[in-house]
Amino acid sequence: MTKADLYQMLEEKQQLFFDTADAIWADPELSLSEHHAAARYTALLEELGFTVENRLAGMETAFSGRFGSGRPVIGILGEYDALAGLSQQAGALEPCPATKDGDNDCGHGCGHHLLGVGSLAAAWAVKEYLAASGESGTVIYYGCPGEEGGAGKAFMARDGLFYGLDAALTWHPGSTNEVFTGTNNTSMQVEYTFHGIAAHAAGNPHQGRSALDAVELMNLGVQFLREHIPTTDCLHYAVTNAGGISPNVVQSKATVLYMVRSDTVPHNKELLARVDRIAEGAALMTDTSFTRRFIDGTADLLPNEALERALYKNMAEIPLPEYTQSEREFAAALDSTCPRDEELPGMGAKYDWEIRKRVAELSDNGAAPLNDFLLPYFHSDKQSPGSTDVGDVSWQTPTAQITAVTWPAHSPGHSWQNVSGGTSGVAHKGMLYAAKVLAGAAVDLFTQPELLEKARTEFQAAAARGYTCPIEPDATPVPVEEMLYSKRT
Ligand SMILES: [Zn+2]
Ligand SMILES: [Zn+2]
Repeated sequence: MTKADLYQMLEEKQQLFFDTADAIWADPELSLSEHHAAARYTALLEELGFTVENRLAGMETAFSGRFGSGRPVIGILGEYDALAGLSQQAGALEPCPATKDGDNDCGHGCGHHLLGVGSLAAAWAVKEYLAASGESGTVIYYGCPGEEGGAGKAFMARDGLFYGLDAALTWHPGSTNEVFTGTNNTSMQVEYTFHGIAAHAAGNPHQGRSALDAVELMNLGVQFLREHIPTTDCLHYAVTNAGGISPNVVQSKATVLYMVRSDTVPHNKELLARVDRIAEGAALMTDTSFTRRFIDGTADLLPNEALERALYKNMAEIPLPEYTQSEREFAAALDSTCPRDEELPGMGAKYDWEIRKRVAELSDNGAAPLNDFLLPYFHSDKQSPGSTDVGDVSWQTPTAQITAVTWPAHSPGHSWQNVSGGTSGVAHKGMLYAAKVLAGAAVDLFTQPELLEKARTEFQAAAARGYTCPIEPDATPVPVEEMLYSKRT
């Protein structure tokens, strides 16, 4: 079976994949509560001939689908969680929630409905290839929950789930067709709940001890900490429970959720210990106590140039999607609602002058509403400020990923525009293109052992200092829903 046959098969089955992505888009679920999506995926995997394993690493919505036997073993990663506050009607050109009752206000602002299905389509194509070739080899689709919160892959990595792979591939929906490169910050989230004593704020203030005061003092302490940390470290917080809505009550319970980022997991642990001590100080100052709950953490990403090159080769070989006039018109209309900046698309344009010139031509100096081209190849180990749990996978096996165009050129991350365009022709076609690229690269890895060897040698050098799991030993996965104070009983 040739790679061209595989692409043809993916096209013949495309409607199933488009329908599945649309169904998940229409039923968005928060991180680690993706029960409907997980049920849909596992049923489909079984129907397509995979052997399914459920509830990986203690998470109800983590699963895998396996096909084949022996080495090499290639993992393909999928995600399917949505974001709170981004409910949006498909195809609308202004923010307009799809739900009125506020019951389910989430939406697929990061395109994980496409990510999960595109990866599944790729895994299916690889399975068909393995079945036809009859050669040794295994493909595993990993259903990874909680990317937006919960860090499903990091919990899976804590259980060592990715050590047995020869390589892992994935993709992310986006505004560019390019290989994802570089590294990123690690992250850790910890929830601090302060406990005080309730009292009438005017009548008995001397008897009260304010948990909200403690949260405010903790935040103030952290503001002073900012001057004394590396400039690439980040400290973010959200007050998830301010203690209630009554100013005339001394708030007896208040919660703040911290996200701490640094370049490596060991550095992040040191920074988090300083934040812990500020919490202790805030409790001392207010005569309150606090409980600490570790939520999640993610490691930095180890880029793998050998795999990035393999992915790029397939991106260049496979024809890019062709768009209809109406798809282009919708993309342009949606793009016109997006904020602009001076940046040219893609990572290469930031760091490489030659690439910058080429991208300026391709994108009409960054004005094109749809980046319907392949960006030049670019590899880097530059650190970006954000974090991803793909990083944890990359410490256990050589890992690489691409982005494919599913949104207009200027659509911001986690935006209503991304949700609005999530079921469009551009989104579907980008997903199918990504599936072809991942499947094509996986076939190269099965047929060219030297590629895997190169990737492994590079990985071993990069990971020589050893994986430090960012998840604390006694931590259990916390569904994001549980942290929404308004939904607590
Ligand atoms: Zn996201
Ligand atoms: Zn995402």
